[in-house]
Order: sequence, then structure tokens, then C-alpha cells
Amino acid sequence: MQDQYGRKIEYLRLSITDLCNLRCKYCMPEKGIKKLPHDEILTFEQMVNVAKAAKKLGIKKLRITGGEPLVKRNFIALLESISEIGFEDLGITTNGINLPKYIDDIKRLGVKRINISLDSLNKKTYQLITNHDELDKALLGIDKSIEAGIKVKINTVMLKNINENEFENLINFAKEKNILLRFIELMPTECSKDFAKLHYLSSKDVIKKFNAKFVREEGVADIYDIGGFLVGFISPISNKFCDSCNKIRITSTGLLIPCLHSNVGYSLKPYVDNVDELARQIEKFTLNKPISHFIGEKENISKTMNTIGG
Ligand code: SAM
Ligand code: SF4
Repeated sequence: MQDQYGRKIEYLRLSITDLCNLRCKYCMPEKGIKKLPHDEILTFEQMVNVAKAAKKLGIKKLRITGGEPLVKRNFIALLESISEIGFEDLGITTNGINLPKYIDDIKRLGVKRINISLDSLNKKTYQLITNHDELDKALLGIDKSIEAGIKVKINTVMLKNINENEFENLINFAKEKNILLRFIELMPTECSKDFAKLHYLSSKDVIKKFNAKFVREEGVADIYDIGGFLVGFISPISNKFCDSCNKIRITSTGLLIPCLHSNVGYSLKPYVDNVDELARQIEKFTLNKPISHFIGEKENISKTMNTIGG
């Protein structure tokens, strides 16, 4: 499938729930979110239909995200049905807390990659960012995934005056576990724009501080060498990667979002019971993927990140 600018679209991020067991300051409103009426959320079968339609359109890589995907009821059954469709690359993005509970099934169902969010190794800072005292569980989730032989990447959002003094520790942690750490630039969303103004830290500043040397591009990340160890930087603000974007996103309410940072979404809800029609509509809406985002220039992401899935 291609968009109107000839970009090949091969990657779907499917958000299976907007609920979460954490409340990261940059992602969800502090007071939490209103629970959506049941009938607004796609059913189990409709989510599987979305994945089937994506496969028909040549999507090779499907990443399950949320909210927190591992809090979804029937998560393993859903993962099993999606896994049976046969994507080349099936991954999960998670905060890691429920991984110990599910890791055996996740491994059995052929998930090769798990991206785990970890912004701090300090209990107090972790709690400050996520509003929950769950660092130990997240760390256990990382260890269990590594033990299971799954490729783990750590995602760390860079937060000025909050976790910036921990970057060295986080790099050492990744080194010790022999996993890739990727620093992500904080993006302003409607609910976090004031927070983002205060705490945004550019990759450029961190790269300079560590005297990091550019090595290569790897998907959306630029890989740098820091003292002989490779670390990724994902820099949607300071170094847009729109030219090579191969992704679309679909939310748990069936909204297709061609670009994370543009405020346009198309409802697939009327088509979700028919895989062929769904595929036609996904293809049609994907054509409209904008050439670039204007985040930080003239718009913020209007939805909270937990609905879109990052
Ligand atoms: N709950 C899962 C997790 O935290 O990994 C999956 C969903 S979360 C929305 C996906 C990713 O988006 C996480 O790595 C999170 O750090 C990132 N994220 C959320 N809000 C963000 C923001 N405002 N700026 C940058 N990254 C953000
Ligand atoms: Fe939950 Fe992930 Fe958002 Fe944190 S970033 S609140 S873990 S969905």
C-alpha cells in the first residue's frame, strides 16, 4: 500500500485499549480518562478484522500498543488471533508491568520484539513520572522478557529537570542487559503541552553532552555510539523523519490516524465487520497521509497519547 507521496506503508500500530495502569504525566491527564462506552470500542472480532485487512494490504509489521495493551481483557486470546494472521514482524509496546504474568504466552505466540517504556531507575522519579510505585514490576518485566529470548528495546522519554541526570545510569543499565536503549523527544499533546514546554529536551543537546557519534539510521531511530555502546535517539521534533515514515495507526475505537502528529483521523467503524471493505477504506484513507507534521510549529497532538498508542 502506498500513500499519495509514494511512501510505502508497511507498518501498523494497533492500539487495543486506551486504558492504562499508569498515568505518565506526558501521556494521560492526571485525573485519568473517562471510560469510553462499551459500544464505541471495537469488539474482539472487529480488532482481528482490522489486522486481517492490514495483512491483505501488505502490512508486514504490526505492533500492538495501547494505552497499556497488557491490561486488555482477553489480551492473550486477541494476541493469538492476530498472531495466526502471520505478520512478518509482530511486536508489542508496553510499560512492562504485566509482562511477568504473560511472557510465556507471548513467547509461545511468536512475538519477537517487545519495546518497554522506562524513564527512570529511581523509584521516586519513576513514581513522579508515572504516578505509580511500580518500578520493580517494570524491571522484572524487562528481565523476564530477556530471559524468554525476546528482543527487548527500552524507550526513555527525555525529560529536562526530571530524568536528565539519569541518562548515564540508564545507558549503563542497557549495557549490562545488552539491550538497545532509545531516547525519545517529548512531544506536546493537548493534555501535556504545559508539561512539554517545561520539560522538553532536544536529542541534539543530549548527543552533544555525551559526545555521541552518529552510526546509522534504524527505522525512526538514529543510532549513536556513546563510549563504544550503541544508543538510539528518536527525534520527531528536532529531526523530523516524515520523508521515510511507513506507518499508520488505528485506535481501539477504529479511528485510522495516518500521521501521529496531525490531527486528522478517519473512522473505520462503519466497515469493521467486513474485511474486504475495511481493506478498501484503509487504503483510501491512507492515501491522505500528510507529507509532514507541524508539531511545535502550529499544532499539538489533540488526542492523548494513550488513545493513539505512541
Ligand atoms: N503503555 C505502553 C507504553 O507505555 O509503552 C504503550 C503505549 S505508550 C502511549 C507508547 C509510547 O509512547 C511510550 O514509549 C511512551 O513513552 C510514549 N509517549 C507517550 N506520550 C508521549 C509524549 N507526549 N511524548 C513522547 N512520547 C510519548
Ligand atoms: Fe500508560 Fe504508556 Fe501512557 Fe504511560 S505512556 S500512561 S504507560 S499508555
